Amino acid sequence: IKILAVGCLLLSGSALIAQGMDDISQKVEALLSKMTLEEKVGQMNQYNGFWDATGPAPEEGLAALKYEHLRKGLVGSMLNVRGVEQVREVQRIAVEEARLGIPLIIGFDVIHGYKTISPIPLAEAASWDLQAIRRSAEIAAAEASAAGINWTFAPMVDIGRDARWGRVMEGGGEDPFLGSRIADARVKGFQGEDLSSPATIAACAKHFAGYGFAEAGRDYNTVDFGTSTLRNVVLPPFKAAADAGAATFMNAFNILNGIPATGDAFLQRDILKGEWGYTGFVVSDWGSLKEMVSHGYAEDVAHAAELAANAGSDMDMESYGYVSHLAGLVREGKVEEAHVDDAVRRILRVKFELGLFDDPYRYCDAEREATVIGSEEHLEGVLDMARKSIVLLKNEGGLLPLPKDGKRIALIGELAAEKNSPLGSWRLAADDNSAVSVLEGMQAYGGNDLVYEKGVKVIDGRQHFVFETHINTTDTAGMAAAVAAAKSADIAVLVLGEPGFLSGEGRSRTDLGLPGLQQQLLEAVFAANPNVVLVLNNGRPLALPWAADHIPAILEGWQLGTQAGHAIAQALYGDHNPSGKLPMTFPRSVGQVPIYYNHMRTGRPEMPTPDEVFWSHYIDERNSPLFPFGHGLSYTTFEYSGLKLSSGQLKPGGYLTATVEVSNTGGVAGREVVQLYIHDHYASVARPVKELKGFELVYLEPGEKKTITFKLDEALLSFYTARGVWAAEPGTFTVMAGGSSETSLSATFELTGPKR
Ligand code: BGC
Repeated sequence: IKILAVGCLLLSGSALIAQGMDDISQKVEALLSKMTLEEKVGQMNQYNGFWDATGPAPEEGLAALKYEHLRKGLVGSMLNVRGVEQVREVQRIAVEEARLGIPLIIGFDVIHGYKTISPIPLAEAASWDLQAIRRSAEIAAAEASAAGINWTFAPMVDIGRDARWGRVMEGGGEDPFLGSRIADARVKGFQGEDLSSPATIAACAKHFAGYGFAEAGRDYNTVDFGTSTLRNVVLPPFKAAADAGAATFMNAFNILNGIPATGDAFLQRDILKGEWGYTGFVVSDWGSLKEMVSHGYAEDVAHAAELAANAGSDMDMESYGYVSHLAGLVREGKVEEAHVDDAVRRILRVKFELGLFDDPYRYCDAEREATVIGSEEHLEGVLDMARKSIVLLKNEGGLLPLPKDGKRIALIGELAAEKNSPLGSWRLAADDNSAVSVLEGMQAYGGNDLVYEKGVKVIDGRQHFVFETHINTTDTAGMAAAVAAAKSADIAVLVLGEPGFLSGEGRSRTDLGLPGLQQQLLEAVFAANPNVVLVLNNGRPLALPWAADHIPAILEGWQLGTQAGHAIAQALYGDHNPSGKLPMTFPRSVGQVPIYYNHMRTGRPEMPTPDEVFWSHYIDERNSPLFPFGHGLSYTTFEYSGLKLSSGQLKPGGYLTATVEVSNTGGVAGREVVQLYIHDHYASVARPVKELKGFELVYLEPGEKKTITFKLDEALLSFYTARGVWAAEPGTFTVMAGGSSETSLSATFELTGPKR
């Protein structure tokens, strides 16, 4: 039997060589052939670091076990080990003490920057600026890699349609087209052209799949949707990440149609590794393997390990499932060793690509650590990103931009002076209070008489990722002073919204209004002085119908990272002309959620008609959003005209062009995001009312006009059809163009061919 098995091995080895096995594959095969089953399983095991000062000493408890496993070569990766010194130490054990000396891959949640913090990903998405987004990921990679890290658990590419879900702040918004482009930009930013450069890190597209559709927006909750939503909405950004070369994927905590994602062979084996031919590896989410027991899908952790390994989940993050049970499961014949080999090949390949076998300490360069992190260049980069992420939601009566001198301005709100909150959630390596506050940003201008009042206290208690954030609901002590300051000022600027830790993981909300007493403060200040500019700080869309009706100027300032205050002040004073566009719909009321622009039609009208009483609506709220997807104003005005198609017919295999003219009709230069949407009139599966299919950033001087051209072909019109293939179906399409998803220009064409 042994001889036969060796023969088979040799055969498959030479077959691989005959097929042109690349250099890395040969190295992987050579190493794999030396590994014991336990060592292979070790590569599939990831442990959380034990660097935290509050954790046990290395010789105690769990940490002692982890050290022992490191020495025995039973650990393939560690997360949350950071800083050159710590990384070097764990790497030294893996490389020098374990039998085969296989280097560790070191993971960390570098979500929007390492120490120099960029805007939260949702805010970056509002820039629609793929180059800037890519640059922001590059900066994050440069800093993280200088701190010993070579793998980030980002980008999160989950589609976010439900603002109650706190993790919408980590993603690219609600749209699969924009989300796919952003996924591509982020993967390329983290990984660069060449993964082996010591300034780039491996990316991880997460959470595969469906996590963003948690029922009622409650984190970790059940997910249930059909094939069309899976294929046409949820998967495209993952596919884009895979196509961009994302080295790894992460599966998810949630069940999808009854199967926990970590144990889902259809998603991981059939779609990702099968249909898409993906060659990277899949890491589980934190403890998601053992959560399959809690889900009621596995009998115990050993069973969960069996299910996960068979489903194609290659690495186990902190469940101890593989390291404890997988070798035994192989020996019992419950998991084929070929599955283990496949997982190990994938993991080793990424380690080779990162150059870890050439030099396991290549990410442990103390000089880089000292010079790269927090550099001037990085501060400039995140400032640029922060400016581009700002969205001007409303500007009536020309209140913005603010005059630079000669006025009295009352700046109000606890968040205006916050230096921690603008860093947002998921900024694990940043120094607390290291952001520029709006107060500091405005003080830098100095020409006006600026007074600051906190108004109401918002943050009550310690803010930290792992602690609850308490919002004040009783302390009104500062209210009177804020109202008085507003009364004696020419303009009141209120900075209100969510403290940074009110969004992110485990931060679901049922209320999308201003937390605490801020709404009361806003109304009181407005009553004292109607010249109010509202600057929002938030990690998700908020439902602020009163503000949208009454407050003349609203600037969306998200959580913009280290340089937040400078970016916001520059936008307020007009040194930056806002050009961001919402990547997620803002609802009027939480009862409308999930609300998104690319929804399906119902069989009923959405407006009352004389002969339809039962139209699709609420009896107590409009259907329309507060601010639609793609919305965002500028200090200038843009006019759209002359949407033209090169032909009224698109023949299979050919293409059409759509051109639209955009003019700057206002008084200052500005940047506009020109958006193109299509609507497929009928198809084998119903299609949305409109779908984004193109966008272009255009910079126009006052009076300048440009013609923007979009190319339309079958690939762009394709979707996952009822036949289970990606195809465009013949029929009528409407093309729409404009500066938001509520466009005014349209034209139609036919895709020719036999109709269904
Ligand atoms: C999150 C992941 C994250 C992981 C590691 C989990 O709780 O869902 O997105 O990468 O923790 O920190």
